[in-house]
Amino acid sequence: MDLGLRGKPAVVAAASQGLGKAIAWELAREGARLAICSRDEGRIRAAAEAIREDTGAEVHPFVCDLSREDEVATFVSQAAKALGGVDILVTNAGGPHPGHFEDVDDAAWYATYDLTYLSAVRLIREALPHLKRAGHGRIVVMTSISVKQPIPDLILSNAIRMSVVGMAKSLVPDVGPHGITVNVVCPGYVGTTRTKELFAARAEREGTSSEAVEEDLVRVVPLGRTGEPREVGALVAFLASERASYLTGNLIQIDGGLYRGVF
Ligand code: NAD
Repeated sequence: MDLGLRGKPAVVAAASQGLGKAIAWELAREGARLAICSRDEGRIRAAAEAIREDTGAEVHPFVCDLSREDEVATFVSQAAKALGGVDILVTNAGGPHPGHFEDVDDAAWYATYDLTYLSAVRLIREALPHLKRAGHGRIVVMTSISVKQPIPDLILSNAIRMSVVGMAKSLVPDVGPHGITVNVVCPGYVGTTRTKELFAARAEREGTSSEAVEEDLVRVVPLGRTGEPREVGALVAFLASERASYLTGNLIQIDGGLYRGVF
């Protein structure tokens, strides 16, 4: 299937490693032109170089702390300038700290609000004029399976990501008349640095090993394994494509069957 992504300008946030990098890589394989960001200049440059070398795609790396309004605005405007527009936006950021209700204070709630919620709002706000101009824009909002079913030791993710979903769902009718689609992706356990860190933190709390934690979690995944970042990249590339032209307002889980609910 030709996804119709050749030459399309795409912005992917938080892409020096993990899901963001895999998404950028998959879009590049399909011929999109990319602007990517993260906080560390060396790492984002290295990610851009690796993607460029493998795919031959145009990839522009930018330094941006996604929890800061001014830096998000600068990133999107520089990205749009480098690419000559933005047709595709993938919102993504680092994950919230683990913890239960009594582990987190106001500072942690506010920091998660900035990084997880406002980063998505600000990226979309800055990209919207460009997406409207494109006339067929795609917004893919990365969240987590935690919006379908809370994860026991991730209250910050469970709570704040729900507002990301509320915002994204509200946006759908506003931008639909401009030909822009908005879809929310909800990954389960995918093998990245983030999951390694979460498994290690839980292992320490429970006095066990990371391997034992992973085995325990994977036991309830019908496909019997964690996901590969590239599998998430493939889903996002499809949602960002011309082929997904009548798909909007969806929450799409990619979790090996972990979440069993109907809605
Ligand atoms: P990761 O830790 O491997 O990568 C996170 C990326 O975000 C890195 O590129 C990092 O540099 C960047 N980043 C972090 N804070 C930033 C900031 N303030 N400004 C700019 N960039 C920043 O994590 P991942 O597994 O790729 O996860 C990405 C997102 O998806 C996270 O929010 C995570 O909670 C969520 N998620 C991941 C999984 C999973 O299984 N991996 C599942 C559900 C949700």
